[in-house]
Amino acid sequence: MKIAILPGDGIGTEIVAEAVKVLKALDLKFELEEAKVGGAAYDAYGHPLPEATLKLAQASDAILFGAVGDWKYDTLDRPLRPEQAILGLRKALGLFANFRPAICYEQLTHASSLKPELVAGLDILIIRELTGDIYFGQPRGRRTAPDGHFPGAEEAFDTMRYTRPEIERIARVAFEAARKRGKRVTSVDKANVLETFQLWKDVVTEVHQKEYADVALDHMYVDNAAMQLVKEPKKFDVIVTGNMFGDILSDEASMLTGSIGMLPSASLNDKKQGLYEPSHGSAPDIAGKGVANPLATILSAAMMLRFSLNQPEAADRIEAAVKKVLAQGLRTPDIYSDGTTKVGTREMGEAVVKALG
Ligand code: NAD
Repeated sequence: MKIAILPGDGIGTEIVAEAVKVLKALDLKFELEEAKVGGAAYDAYGHPLPEATLKLAQASDAILFGAVGDWKYDTLDRPLRPEQAILGLRKALGLFANFRPAICYEQLTHASSLKPELVAGLDILIIRELTGDIYFGQPRGRRTAPDGHFPGAEEAFDTMRYTRPEIERIARVAFEAARKRGKRVTSVDKANVLETFQLWKDVVTEVHQKEYADVALDHMYVDNAAMQLVKEPKKFDVIVTGNMFGDILSDEASMLTGSIGMLPSASLNDKKQGLYEPSHGSAPDIAGKGVANPLATILSAAMMLRFSLNQPEAADRIEAAVKKVLAQGLRTPDIYSDGTTKVGTREMGEAVVKALG
């Protein structure tokens, strides 16, 4: 099992170091190889995704990724900015299915911005299509408006597009995932106004009828889904949606769980090769202070063992260890509350290693 370790920038290096400690503490044989990505790679090689890093990622079964970005790179040309490394990896590896679980741990219910009774026991999975939609659709650009409300004015435009096969494959991923959970899928669209999402709704319905009649399917407009996520989040099981709606809804769902520092994610291709990373960014505001929460990255390593490396028992062990350290009252500052014990990044990682037993 070969794992590419790409810590990246900011807190990326600190949190990935803890996840690597946890992986090394398992009795499994891994080949771990580290490479630079993002701003760190730009500083060293002049590109956020150097050829050597991309080759390593392609040759690995899975990638453990920290985070990339820093305000100091904001003035670079767009193709050289750290965040382009993630887009480049997604494209090169064909990572089209993004899994973002939102789980509210019993001990952290009070850290949520919602009332504890609304989030206690929350366990939902958002599946976001990752390679299509308005983020990649062509044509896009800036020009002089040929028509519209202000012909002749400067305008910018993007194109929302989805093809039938793209919708079919993400729908199947969602139905398969639901089969292993609560057997319910909510497909989120905006079919009332967008042609793209009318096709989305039609195709998801067809895939459901032909292949997954044992799973319950309902459809919800994205504006209603945004509202229901804060009104009654526990009524969802698996949510499947497009790239842009998924981007927004998964961040909204992350806050239900208390801290973005708790949320892992996985992006998979059709060969189950995957990129595993915390849902948060490089947090330049706390980088180097030793206070970042490493649990999202450690939980991403657990997802990696489950989805790409076929080691579900090892994944269960890590998840149980995380629950144990939370039960012991250990908290990084982002999830700290009165009566608990404040610890730093390293102490939290070491506590998880110890709790593996
Ligand atoms: P961010 O997620 O880095 O930080 C948002 C807030 O959450 C900050 O207050 C930060 O301190 C806090 N936070 C994030 N992770 C935490 C953790 N593990 N423990 C404790 N607190 C944590 O988002 P941002 O500030 O908007 O972006 C910072 C940089 O990260 C930007 O350059 C952005 O482009 C980049 N970014 C990268 C990724 C990625 O690598 N996948 C994702 C999002 C943002």
